[in-house]
Amino acid sequence: MERRQGDRRKLTRTTAANQQLKIAYGDGLTGYARLIDLSPMGISLETSYPLTPLNDISIQTFLIEEAIKGQVIWSKPIDDIHDGHRYISGIRMEARTDFSKMFSQKPGAIMERDGRREMSSVFQKADKFAERLKDWKKNSVYVFFRTPKPSKNTIIFSSNDYLCLSRHPKVVTASQKALEKYGIGSGSASILAGSTPIHGKLQEKLAAFKRVESVLLTASGYVANVGTLTGFAQKNQVFILDEKSHASMFHACKNSESEMRVFRHNDVRDLFQKISHYPLSMPKMVLTEGLFSMDGDIGKLREIHAIAQRFNASLFLDDGHSVGILGENGCGSEEEAGLLGKCDLVTASFSKAFGAMGGFVGSTKKNIDFLRHFSHPFMFTSALPASVCAAILAAIEIIEHEPERREKIVKNGAFFRKSLKELGFNISTCDSHLIPIVVGHEVKAYQLAKLLEEEGIIANAVARPAVPRGGARVRFGVRFAHSRQDLERTLDVLKRIKTKLNLNE
Ligand code: PMP
Repeated sequence: MERRQGDRRKLTRTTAANQQLKIAYGDGLTGYARLIDLSPMGISLETSYPLTPLNDISIQTFLIEEAIKGQVIWSKPIDDIHDGHRYISGIRMEARTDFSKMFSQKPGAIMERDGRREMSSVFQKADKFAERLKDWKKNSVYVFFRTPKPSKNTIIFSSNDYLCLSRHPKVVTASQKALEKYGIGSGSASILAGSTPIHGKLQEKLAAFKRVESVLLTASGYVANVGTLTGFAQKNQVFILDEKSHASMFHACKNSESEMRVFRHNDVRDLFQKISHYPLSMPKMVLTEGLFSMDGDIGKLREIHAIAQRFNASLFLDDGHSVGILGENGCGSEEEAGLLGKCDLVTASFSKAFGAMGGFVGSTKKNIDFLRHFSHPFMFTSALPASVCAAILAAIEIIEHEPERREKIVKNGAFFRKSLKELGFNISTCDSHLIPIVVGHEVKAYQLAKLLEEEGIIANAVARPAVPRGGARVRFGVRFAHSRQDLERTLDVLKRIKTKLNLNE
Protein backbone atom coordinates (compact mmCIF):
# COMPACT_ATOMS: atom_id res chain seq x y z
CA MET A 1 0.00 0.00 0.00
CA GLU A 2 1.41 3.31 -0.96
CA ARG A 3 0.76 6.28 1.25
CA ARG A 4 0.92 9.72 -0.21
CA GLN A 5 1.39 13.04 1.49
CA GLY A 6 -1.87 14.19 2.98
CA ASP A 7 -3.33 10.70 3.06
CA ARG A 8 -4.67 10.51 6.56
CA ARG A 9 -6.30 7.10 6.36
CA LYS A 10 -5.37 4.96 9.29
CA LEU A 11 -3.34 1.87 8.85
CA THR A 12 -5.65 -0.93 9.84
CA ARG A 13 -5.10 -4.41 11.01
CA THR A 14 -5.76 -5.57 7.48
CA THR A 15 -2.63 -3.84 6.31
CA ALA A 16 -0.46 -6.72 5.37
CA ALA A 17 2.76 -7.31 7.16
CA ASN A 18 5.91 -6.87 5.11
CA GLN A 19 4.34 -4.22 2.94
CA GLN A 20 6.42 -1.29 1.81
CA LEU A 21 5.07 2.00 3.13
CA LYS A 22 5.85 5.20 1.41
CA ILE A 23 6.19 7.84 4.11
CA ALA A 24 5.42 11.43 3.23
CA TYR A 25 6.98 14.06 5.43
CA GLY A 26 5.84 17.03 3.35
CA ASP A 27 8.11 19.47 1.54
CA GLY A 28 8.81 16.75 -1.00
CA LEU A 29 10.49 14.46 1.49
CA THR A 30 9.58 10.83 1.22
CA GLY A 31 10.98 7.61 2.50
CA TYR A 32 10.09 3.96 2.78
CA ALA A 33 9.41 1.69 5.70
CA ARG A 34 8.56 -2.00 5.81
CA LEU A 35 5.68 -2.84 8.06
CA ILE A 36 6.50 -5.83 10.19
CA ASP A 37 3.51 -6.00 12.42
CA LEU A 38 0.46 -4.01 13.38
CA SER A 39 -1.64 -4.71 16.40
CA PRO A 40 -3.92 -2.79 18.73
CA MET A 41 -0.86 -2.47 20.92
CA GLY A 42 1.13 -0.62 18.30
CA ILE A 43 3.27 -0.99 15.27
CA SER A 44 6.60 -2.54 14.33
CA LEU A 45 8.37 -1.27 11.31
CA GLU A 46 11.72 -1.28 9.72
CA THR A 47 12.97 1.67 7.71
CA SER A 48 15.34 1.16 4.88
CA TYR A 49 18.24 3.47 4.43
CA PRO A 50 18.00 6.21 3.28
CA LEU A 51 14.63 6.86 4.75
CA THR A 52 14.81 10.55 3.95
CA PRO A 53 17.07 12.53 1.65
CA LEU A 54 19.04 13.37 4.76
CA ASN A 55 21.89 10.95 4.51
CA ASP A 56 22.39 10.68 8.17
CA ILE A 57 21.06 7.80 10.16
CA SER A 58 21.03 9.78 13.39
CA ILE A 59 18.85 12.49 11.82
CA GLN A 60 16.46 9.86 10.49
CA THR A 61 16.17 8.25 13.89
CA PHE A 62 15.63 11.64 15.42
CA LEU A 63 12.88 12.58 12.93
CA ILE A 64 10.93 9.43 13.50
CA GLU A 65 11.34 9.48 17.24
CA GLU A 66 10.29 13.11 17.40
CA ALA A 67 7.20 12.41 15.30
CA ILE A 68 6.06 9.64 17.58
CA LYS A 69 7.37 11.20 20.73
CA GLY A 70 6.49 9.41 23.88
CA GLN A 71 5.16 6.46 21.94
CA VAL A 72 8.31 4.63 21.03
CA ILE A 73 8.63 1.36 22.84
CA TRP A 74 12.03 0.72 21.44
CA SER A 75 14.11 1.63 18.45
CA LYS A 76 17.53 0.58 17.31
CA PRO A 77 19.68 0.83 14.20
CA ILE A 78 19.81 -2.22 11.93
CA ASP A 79 23.37 -3.35 11.47
CA ASP A 80 24.83 -5.02 8.40
CA ILE A 81 28.32 -6.38 8.46
CA HIS A 82 30.16 -6.45 5.10
CA ASP A 83 33.84 -7.14 4.67
CA GLY A 84 34.36 -6.70 8.37
CA HIS A 85 32.77 -3.20 8.31
CA ARG A 86 29.60 -2.28 10.12
CA TYR A 87 26.94 -0.48 8.10
CA ILE A 88 23.67 0.90 9.37
CA SER A 89 20.97 0.01 6.89
CA GLY A 90 17.87 1.23 8.67
CA ILE A 91 16.04 1.61 11.92
CA ARG A 92 13.80 -0.92 13.56
CA MET A 93 11.27 0.40 15.97
CA GLU A 94 8.11 -0.44 17.75
CA ALA A 95 5.66 2.31 18.56
CA ARG A 96 2.42 2.48 20.48
CA THR A 97 0.62 4.78 18.09
CA ASP A 98 -1.12 5.55 14.81
CA PHE A 99 1.93 5.77 12.64
CA SER A 100 0.17 6.79 9.42
CA LYS A 101 -1.40 9.87 10.95
CA MET A 102 1.86 11.13 12.26
CA PHE A 103 3.83 10.79 9.09
CA SER A 104 1.16 12.39 6.98
CA GLN A 105 1.62 15.52 9.09
CA LYS A 106 3.78 18.25 7.66
CA PRO A 107 6.96 18.69 9.65
CA GLY A 108 6.29 22.41 9.78
CA ALA A 109 9.50 23.40 11.51
CA ILE A 110 11.61 22.58 8.48
CA MET A 111 11.60 24.85 5.46
CA GLU A 112 13.75 25.87 2.54
CA ARG A 113 15.32 29.34 2.49
CA ASP A 114 17.92 30.39 -0.03
CA GLY A 115 18.35 26.76 -0.93
CA ARG A 116 19.18 25.88 2.67
CA ARG A 117 17.06 24.04 5.15
CA GLU A 118 16.28 26.15 8.17
CA MET A 119 14.21 25.98 11.33
CA SER A 120 12.02 28.98 10.56
CA SER A 121 10.50 29.57 13.97
CA VAL A 122 13.85 29.67 15.71
CA PHE A 123 15.54 32.09 13.31
CA GLN A 124 12.72 34.54 12.67
CA LYS A 125 14.35 37.18 14.87
CA ALA A 126 17.64 36.78 13.03
CA ASP A 127 15.82 37.13 9.67
CA LYS A 128 14.28 40.40 10.81
CA PHE A 129 17.56 41.71 12.14
CA ALA A 130 19.40 40.81 8.92
CA GLU A 131 17.22 43.35 7.07
CA ARG A 132 18.06 46.07 9.59
CA LEU A 133 21.74 45.26 9.42
CA LYS A 134 21.65 45.51 5.63
CA ASP A 135 20.16 48.99 5.93
CA TRP A 136 22.78 50.15 8.41
CA LYS A 137 25.60 48.90 6.22
CA LYS A 138 24.04 50.37 3.08
CA ASN A 139 23.83 53.75 4.79
CA SER A 140 27.39 53.41 6.11
CA VAL A 141 26.28 53.90 9.69
CA TYR A 142 27.32 50.54 11.08
CA VAL A 143 29.71 51.25 13.97
CA PHE A 144 29.82 47.99 15.92
CA PHE A 145 32.60 45.45 16.39
CA ARG A 146 35.11 48.00 15.14
CA THR A 147 38.81 47.53 15.60
CA PRO A 148 39.96 51.13 15.49
CA LYS A 149 43.62 51.62 14.75
CA PRO A 150 44.56 54.43 17.08
CA SER A 151 47.49 56.61 16.13
CA LYS A 152 49.39 58.87 18.51
CA ASN A 153 46.83 61.61 17.99
CA THR A 154 43.70 59.50 18.41
CA ILE A 155 41.61 60.48 21.41
CA ILE A 156 39.86 57.46 22.89
CA PHE A 157 36.66 58.05 24.85
CA SER A 158 35.26 54.60 24.18
CA SER A 159 37.28 52.64 26.73
CA ASN A 160 36.22 51.99 30.31
CA ASP A 161 39.88 51.77 31.29
CA TYR A 162 39.34 55.13 32.99
CA LEU A 163 42.53 55.27 35.05
CA CYS A 164 44.60 53.85 32.17
CA LEU A 165 45.87 51.02 34.36
CA SER A 166 45.62 48.25 31.79
CA ARG A 167 49.03 49.27 30.41
CA HIS A 168 50.55 50.64 33.60
CA PRO A 169 54.06 49.11 33.92
CA LYS A 170 53.47 47.95 37.51
CA VAL A 171 50.24 46.23 36.50
CA VAL A 172 51.77 44.60 33.43
CA THR A 173 54.84 43.38 35.35
CA ALA A 174 52.74 41.89 38.17
CA SER A 175 50.57 40.12 35.62
CA GLN A 176 53.55 38.81 33.66
CA LYS A 177 55.11 37.33 36.80
CA ALA A 178 51.90 35.48 37.67
CA LEU A 179 51.51 34.37 34.06
CA GLU A 180 54.95 32.78 34.08
CA LYS A 181 54.29 31.08 37.39
CA TYR A 182 50.70 29.89 36.90
CA GLY A 183 50.16 29.82 33.13
CA ILE A 184 47.31 31.21 31.08
CA GLY A 185 44.18 29.42 32.27
CA SER A 186 43.04 28.69 35.81
CA GLY A 187 42.18 25.17 34.71
CA SER A 188 39.13 24.74 36.88
CA ALA A 189 36.27 26.35 38.76
CA SER A 190 37.16 28.03 42.04
CA ILE A 191 35.01 25.59 44.00
CA LEU A 192 37.26 22.81 42.71
CA ALA A 193 40.91 23.68 42.25
CA GLY A 194 40.94 26.85 40.12
CA SER A 195 42.31 29.22 42.74
CA THR A 196 45.86 30.17 43.65
CA PRO A 197 47.16 32.11 46.67
CA ILE A 198 46.87 35.24 44.48
CA HIS A 199 43.08 34.75 44.31
CA GLY A 200 42.91 34.60 48.12
CA LYS A 201 45.10 37.67 48.45
CA LEU A 202 42.91 39.63 46.03
CA GLN A 203 39.73 38.66 47.87
CA GLU A 204 41.22 39.84 51.17
CA LYS A 205 42.48 43.06 49.64
CA LEU A 206 39.10 43.85 48.09
CA ALA A 207 37.26 43.08 51.33
CA ALA A 208 39.45 45.62 53.14
CA PHE A 209 39.10 48.14 50.27
CA LYS A 210 35.28 47.95 50.24
CA ARG A 211 34.97 47.42 54.02
CA VAL A 212 33.07 44.17 53.74
CA GLU A 213 33.62 40.93 55.63
CA SER A 214 34.14 38.80 52.57
CA VAL A 215 34.51 38.90 48.79
CA LEU A 216 33.91 36.42 46.02
CA LEU A 217 35.65 36.78 42.64
CA THR A 218 33.56 36.14 39.54
CA ALA A 219 34.26 35.64 35.84
CA SER A 220 32.83 39.07 34.93
CA GLY A 221 30.76 41.92 36.31
CA TYR A 222 27.75 40.44 34.53
CA VAL A 223 28.25 37.13 36.32
CA ALA A 224 28.70 38.93 39.65
CA ASN A 225 25.22 40.46 39.26
CA VAL A 226 23.44 37.44 37.84
CA GLY A 227 25.12 35.06 40.27
CA THR A 228 24.36 37.18 43.31
CA LEU A 229 20.75 38.04 42.46
CA THR A 230 19.70 34.60 41.28
CA GLY A 231 21.50 33.20 44.32
CA PHE A 232 19.33 35.20 46.70
CA ALA A 233 16.09 35.05 44.70
CA GLN A 234 13.19 33.20 46.29
CA LYS A 235 9.41 33.04 46.12
CA ASN A 236 7.39 35.67 47.98
CA GLN A 237 10.20 38.20 47.67
CA VAL A 238 10.45 41.36 45.59
CA PHE A 239 13.36 42.97 43.74
CA ILE A 240 12.79 46.71 43.30
CA LEU A 241 15.23 48.16 40.81
CA ASP A 242 16.06 51.46 39.13
CA GLU A 243 14.75 51.51 35.56
CA LYS A 244 18.24 52.29 34.25
CA SER A 245 19.94 49.42 36.04
CA HIS A 246 22.39 47.38 34.00
CA ALA A 247 21.02 44.63 31.74
CA SER A 248 22.58 41.97 33.97
CA MET A 249 20.43 43.07 36.92
CA PHE A 250 17.26 42.98 34.80
CA HIS A 251 18.30 39.63 33.39
CA ALA A 252 18.68 38.14 36.86
CA CYS A 253 15.49 39.63 38.33
CA LYS A 254 13.31 38.77 35.33
CA ASN A 255 14.47 35.19 35.30
CA SER A 256 14.12 34.59 39.00
CA GLU A 257 11.19 33.29 41.00
CA SER A 258 10.94 36.59 42.88
CA GLU A 259 8.63 39.43 41.94
CA MET A 260 10.19 42.41 40.12
CA ARG A 261 9.20 46.07 40.41
CA VAL A 262 10.91 48.97 38.65
CA PHE A 263 11.16 52.51 40.01
CA ARG A 264 11.78 55.62 37.92
CA HIS A 265 15.43 56.44 37.43
CA ASN A 266 17.01 57.84 40.59
CA ASP A 267 13.52 58.91 41.73
CA VAL A 268 13.42 58.34 45.46
CA ARG A 269 9.77 59.36 45.74
CA ASP A 270 8.78 56.71 43.24
CA LEU A 271 10.87 54.15 45.10
CA PHE A 272 9.21 55.18 48.37
CA GLN A 273 5.74 54.78 46.86
CA LYS A 274 6.47 51.42 45.28
CA ILE A 275 8.19 49.87 48.26
CA SER A 276 5.51 51.03 50.69
CA HIS A 277 2.98 48.71 49.03
CA TYR A 278 4.76 45.67 50.43
CA PRO A 279 4.40 44.41 53.99
CA LEU A 280 7.40 45.03 56.21
CA SER A 281 7.67 41.31 56.79
CA MET A 282 8.08 40.49 53.08
CA PRO A 283 11.70 40.00 51.95
CA LYS A 284 12.68 42.90 49.66
CA MET A 285 15.82 44.00 47.87
CA VAL A 286 16.39 47.47 46.42
CA LEU A 287 18.85 47.58 43.53
CA THR A 288 20.75 50.58 42.25
CA GLU A 289 24.08 51.63 40.75
CA GLY A 290 26.80 53.92 42.06
CA LEU A 291 27.19 55.68 38.71
CA PHE A 292 24.83 55.02 35.84
CA SER A 293 26.96 54.59 32.77
CA MET A 294 24.45 55.61 30.10
CA ASP A 295 23.45 58.93 31.66
CA GLY A 296 26.59 59.46 33.70
CA ASP A 297 24.65 60.43 36.81
CA ILE A 298 25.47 59.34 40.34
CA GLY A 299 22.93 57.15 42.16
CA LYS A 300 21.15 58.78 45.11
CA LEU A 301 22.63 56.29 47.49
CA ARG A 302 22.05 58.13 50.77
CA GLU A 303 18.31 58.49 50.15
CA ILE A 304 17.96 55.01 48.70
CA HIS A 305 19.84 53.53 51.65
CA ALA A 306 17.55 55.36 54.08
CA ILE A 307 14.41 54.09 52.30
CA ALA A 308 15.73 50.53 52.27
CA GLN A 309 16.37 50.75 56.02
CA ARG A 310 12.93 52.26 56.67
CA PHE A 311 11.16 49.43 54.84
CA ASN A 312 13.32 46.59 56.09
CA ALA A 313 14.80 45.96 52.64
CA SER A 314 18.29 44.82 51.70
CA LEU A 315 20.33 47.09 49.45
CA PHE A 316 22.21 45.87 46.37
CA LEU A 317 24.71 48.20 44.72
CA ASP A 318 26.54 47.76 41.40
CA ASP A 319 29.51 50.05 41.91
CA GLY A 320 31.27 49.16 38.65
CA HIS A 321 31.67 52.63 37.16
CA SER A 322 32.43 54.48 40.40
CA VAL A 323 34.89 52.24 42.20
CA GLY A 324 38.39 53.64 41.69
CA ILE A 325 36.98 57.05 40.75
CA LEU A 326 34.58 58.31 43.42
CA GLY A 327 35.26 58.73 47.13
CA GLU A 328 38.23 60.21 48.95
CA ASN A 329 40.19 56.98 48.63
CA GLY A 330 38.67 55.83 45.36
CA CYS A 331 36.54 53.23 47.16
CA GLY A 332 33.51 54.17 45.11
CA SER A 333 30.06 55.67 45.44
CA GLU A 334 29.49 54.29 48.95
CA GLU A 335 32.54 56.19 50.19
CA GLU A 336 31.38 59.32 48.33
CA ALA A 337 28.01 59.03 50.11
CA GLY A 338 29.60 58.35 53.52
CA LEU A 339 28.27 54.78 53.47
CA LEU A 340 31.37 52.69 52.83
CA GLY A 341 30.60 49.07 53.71
CA LYS A 342 26.95 49.84 54.44
CA CYS A 343 25.28 48.19 51.43
CA ASP A 344 24.19 44.60 52.00
CA LEU A 345 25.61 43.42 48.69
CA VAL A 346 28.09 45.30 46.52
CA THR A 347 29.29 44.17 43.10
CA ALA A 348 31.64 45.61 40.50
CA SER A 349 33.37 44.72 37.28
CA PHE A 350 37.17 44.80 37.04
CA SER A 351 36.82 45.93 33.43
CA LYS A 352 36.52 49.63 34.27
CA ALA A 353 38.90 51.54 36.59
CA PHE A 354 40.91 48.39 37.40
CA GLY A 355 41.76 48.05 33.69
CA ALA A 356 41.37 44.27 33.75
CA MET A 357 38.42 41.91 33.57
CA GLY A 358 36.30 39.81 35.91
CA GLY A 359 34.11 40.93 38.77
CA PHE A 360 33.39 40.54 42.45
CA VAL A 361 30.66 40.57 45.04
CA GLY A 362 31.19 41.70 48.60
CA SER A 363 28.98 41.08 51.63
CA THR A 364 28.96 39.37 55.01
CA LYS A 365 30.97 36.18 55.38
CA LYS A 366 27.74 34.20 55.76
CA ASN A 367 26.28 35.59 52.50
CA ILE A 368 29.47 35.03 50.54
CA ASP A 369 29.81 31.47 51.88
CA PHE A 370 26.27 30.82 50.69
CA LEU A 371 26.99 32.18 47.17
CA ARG A 372 30.22 30.16 47.01
CA HIS A 373 28.26 26.96 47.48
CA PHE A 374 24.93 27.70 45.78
CA SER A 375 25.31 30.34 43.08
CA HIS A 376 25.42 28.44 39.78
CA PRO A 377 26.81 31.24 37.60
CA PHE A 378 29.74 31.32 39.98
CA MET A 379 30.15 27.62 40.76
CA PHE A 380 29.97 26.35 37.20
CA THR A 381 32.50 28.74 35.64
CA SER A 382 36.26 28.56 35.64
CA ALA A 383 38.14 30.82 38.01
CA LEU A 384 39.81 33.99 36.78
CA PRO A 385 43.41 33.45 35.63
CA ALA A 386 46.00 34.22 38.32
CA SER A 387 47.66 36.73 35.97
CA VAL A 388 44.43 38.79 35.90
CA CYS A 389 44.14 38.68 39.71
CA ALA A 390 47.75 39.81 40.05
CA ALA A 391 47.05 42.72 37.69
CA ILE A 392 44.01 43.76 39.76
CA LEU A 393 46.03 43.62 42.99
CA ALA A 394 48.62 45.93 41.44
CA ALA A 395 45.83 48.21 40.15
CA ILE A 396 44.36 48.56 43.66
CA GLU A 397 47.79 49.57 44.97
CA ILE A 398 47.92 52.33 42.35
CA ILE A 399 44.36 53.46 43.12
CA GLU A 400 45.39 53.72 46.77
CA HIS A 401 48.69 55.50 46.16
CA GLU A 402 48.04 57.72 43.12
CA PRO A 403 44.91 59.76 43.91
CA GLU A 404 45.96 62.30 41.27
CA ARG A 405 44.71 59.91 38.59
CA ARG A 406 41.08 60.07 39.71
CA GLU A 407 41.35 63.73 40.67
CA LYS A 408 42.36 64.61 37.11
CA ILE A 409 39.44 62.63 35.71
CA VAL A 410 36.92 64.29 38.01
CA LYS A 411 38.26 67.77 37.17
CA ASN A 412 38.43 67.16 33.41
CA GLY A 413 35.00 65.56 33.47
CA ALA A 414 33.54 68.73 35.02
CA PHE A 415 35.25 70.88 32.37
CA PHE A 416 34.01 68.73 29.49
CA ARG A 417 30.45 68.64 30.82
CA LYS A 418 30.30 72.39 31.34
CA SER A 419 31.73 73.08 27.86
CA LEU A 420 29.26 70.73 26.14
CA LYS A 421 26.38 72.39 27.93
CA GLU A 422 27.63 75.80 26.86
CA LEU A 423 27.76 74.55 23.27
CA GLY A 424 24.10 73.57 23.58
CA PHE A 425 24.43 69.78 23.62
CA ASN A 426 21.91 67.62 25.48
CA ILE A 427 24.02 65.79 28.07
CA SER A 428 21.06 64.39 30.03
CA THR A 429 21.38 64.37 33.84
CA CYS A 430 25.10 63.70 33.73
CA ASP A 431 27.27 64.72 36.70
CA SER A 432 30.39 62.59 36.29
CA HIS A 433 33.26 61.73 33.93
CA LEU A 434 30.85 59.62 31.79
CA ILE A 435 29.18 62.09 29.50
CA PRO A 436 26.53 61.30 26.89
CA ILE A 437 25.48 63.50 23.99
CA VAL A 438 21.87 62.48 23.52
CA VAL A 439 20.83 62.80 19.86
CA GLY A 440 17.55 60.84 19.70
CA HIS A 441 17.49 58.58 16.68
CA GLU A 442 20.00 55.75 16.52
CA VAL A 443 21.11 56.56 12.96
CA LYS A 444 22.06 60.05 14.07
CA ALA A 445 24.14 58.60 16.89
CA TYR A 446 25.93 56.27 14.46
CA GLN A 447 26.56 59.20 12.10
CA LEU A 448 28.00 61.27 14.91
CA ALA A 449 30.31 58.44 16.03
CA LYS A 450 31.44 57.96 12.40
CA LEU A 451 32.19 61.63 11.83
CA LEU A 452 34.13 61.78 15.09
CA GLU A 453 36.12 58.72 14.11
CA GLU A 454 37.08 60.37 10.84
CA GLU A 455 38.58 63.14 12.97
CA GLY A 456 40.52 60.68 15.12
CA ILE A 457 38.08 60.73 18.05
CA ILE A 458 36.67 57.41 19.17
CA ALA A 459 33.44 57.46 21.18
CA ASN A 460 30.73 54.83 21.47
CA ALA A 461 27.31 55.23 19.89
CA VAL A 462 24.68 53.64 22.12
CA ALA A 463 21.15 52.73 21.08
CA ARG A 464 18.36 50.39 22.13
CA PRO A 465 18.29 48.16 24.17
CA ALA A 466 21.03 49.86 26.21
CA VAL A 467 19.00 53.09 26.26
CA PRO A 468 15.28 53.73 25.63
CA ARG A 469 13.92 54.20 22.11
CA GLY A 470 14.54 57.75 20.95
CA GLY A 471 17.36 58.15 23.47
CA ALA A 472 20.30 57.12 21.27
CA ARG A 473 23.52 58.84 22.21
CA VAL A 474 27.26 59.00 21.84
CA ARG A 475 29.03 58.42 25.11
CA PHE A 476 32.32 60.00 26.16
CA GLY A 477 34.34 58.49 28.99
CA VAL A 478 36.85 61.07 30.21
CA ARG A 479 40.03 59.20 31.10
CA PHE A 480 43.35 59.81 32.83
CA ALA A 481 45.13 59.88 29.45
CA HIS A 482 43.18 62.93 28.27
CA SER A 483 44.89 66.28 28.43
CA ARG A 484 43.00 69.57 28.47
CA GLN A 485 44.14 70.06 24.82
CA ASP A 486 42.56 66.69 23.88
CA LEU A 487 39.26 67.82 25.34
CA GLU A 488 39.47 71.20 23.64
CA ARG A 489 40.18 69.59 20.26
CA THR A 490 37.19 67.29 20.77
CA LEU A 491 34.97 70.25 21.62
CA ASP A 492 36.10 72.07 18.44
CA VAL A 493 35.27 69.05 16.31
CA LEU A 494 31.90 68.61 18.03
CA LYS A 495 31.05 72.26 17.40
CA ARG A 496 31.56 71.73 13.65
CA ILE A 497 29.68 68.44 13.55
CA LYS A 498 26.77 69.87 15.54
CA THR A 499 25.81 72.18 12.72
CA LYS A 500 26.38 69.52 10.06
CA LEU A 501 24.10 67.00 11.80
CA ASN A 502 21.71 69.60 13.12
CA LEU A 503 22.10 68.48 16.72
CA ASN A 504 20.18 70.68 19.05
CA GLU A 505 19.51 70.35 22.73
N1 PMP B 1 27.42 46.37 35.56
C1 PMP B 1 27.52 47.55 34.92
C2 PMP B 1 26.92 48.76 35.55
C3 PMP B 1 28.18 47.62 33.69
O1 PMP B 1 28.25 48.79 33.05
C4 PMP B 1 28.74 46.45 33.14
C5 PMP B 1 29.48 46.42 31.82
N2 PMP B 1 29.53 47.49 31.07
C6 PMP B 1 28.61 45.25 33.84
C7 PMP B 1 27.94 45.25 35.04
C8 PMP B 1 29.18 43.99 33.29
O2 PMP B 1 30.55 43.96 33.52
P1 PMP B 1 31.50 42.99 32.70
O3 PMP B 1 31.85 43.70 31.44
O4 PMP B 1 32.67 42.76 33.59
O5 PMP B 1 30.71 41.74 32.48
